[in-house]
Amino acid sequence: MERRKSRSFLLGSVGIGGDNPVSIQSMTNTDTKDAAKTLAQINALAEAGCEIVRVTVPDHEAAEALKEICAKSPLPVVADIHFDYHLALEAMDAGVNGLRINPGNIGGTSKVKAVVKKAKEKQIPIRIGVNSGSVPKDILAKYDGHPTAMGLVESAMRHVKILEDLDFHDIKISLKSSDVPMMIEAYRIIAKMVDYPLHLGVTEAGNARHGIVKSAVGIGTLLAEGIGDTIRVSLTGDPVEEIGVAKQILRSLGLYQKGVELISCPTCGRTKINLPEMVEKIDQATAKIDKPIKIAVMGCAVNGPGEAREADIGLAGGDGLGVIFKKGEIIAKVPEDKLVETLLDEIEKMLN
Ligand code: SF4
Repeated sequence: MERRKSRSFLLGSVGIGGDNPVSIQSMTNTDTKDAAKTLAQINALAEAGCEIVRVTVPDHEAAEALKEICAKSPLPVVADIHFDYHLALEAMDAGVNGLRINPGNIGGTSKVKAVVKKAKEKQIPIRIGVNSGSVPKDILAKYDGHPTAMGLVESAMRHVKILEDLDFHDIKISLKSSDVPMMIEAYRIIAKMVDYPLHLGVTEAGNARHGIVKSAVGIGTLLAEGIGDTIRVSLTGDPVEEIGVAKQILRSLGLYQKGVELISCPTCGRTKINLPEMVEKIDQATAKIDKPIKIAVMGCAVNGPGEAREADIGLAGGDGLGVIFKKGEIIAKVPEDKLVETLLDEIEKMLN
């Protein structure tokens, strides 16, 4: 898949845009003032595979806590700032690697200039983050009072123009909406207008049942068209859950090479083993593998190995006996109760 050509810059140690891989980000939901709790969540996110973390900075105490958070965080930290430019300045002095701030909302040119000056000095990129709930009234009015894809784009471009006029170009843009078609359309439009990296997300996507599908469709559609440089899956709940979903979205499009891709058949009348239980066990036992490996878990040997020929290794159940196969060739026949164990042993051998 050909990716849209975007300009690139560093956000801490992570390259954004250009030929850099699509990065995964999330946001803490702890009270930022509580540095210890926030750091614990950042560490859990990092462990799960998150690459960039955003923290909200609603007040001076939170900006103070950033000093400790930034010093100890294993991930680049982005400060999420609304309205108060002092907080942006404090956050940058505290050591953040990125800012999310909309320059049109911080109260005038001199304030924007102060933020941009410091961001330039410290080589800190700025994300302009527009969402359908905060489109300015005059733009809403142009489109019958409702948020639209074009309204999101116009709203973002206003902020972009403010930064460009100050010769600032380390910009990322997000145009989030909980309305998936609107979000897709907005990103498609802006992707043709500017070459800034795009941060993709469906906002207020919901809990896991609703949010995973909405995010996969919204983010996945754009990525499949080559649009998108960094992604955030937003789910109501523990942000760590978002990371697994983000990885799966990227993996399903060939944009994430690490870890296990688990293929399993849907089961059918031929299935004589407890396949769902086996899949769960294998999934859990292999969740921490970092090397790329495709594992197939199939219900029967009639179609199993053939259907999963592209897998590196797999198993196919039978009646009492099952088989282990590698690249579609059967390498062992094993009693059913030893299938999972044998497969895991073989995987271990392959990885060492
Ligand atoms: S692999 Fe075998 S058990 Fe699984 S769906 Fe296909 S035919 Fe059915």
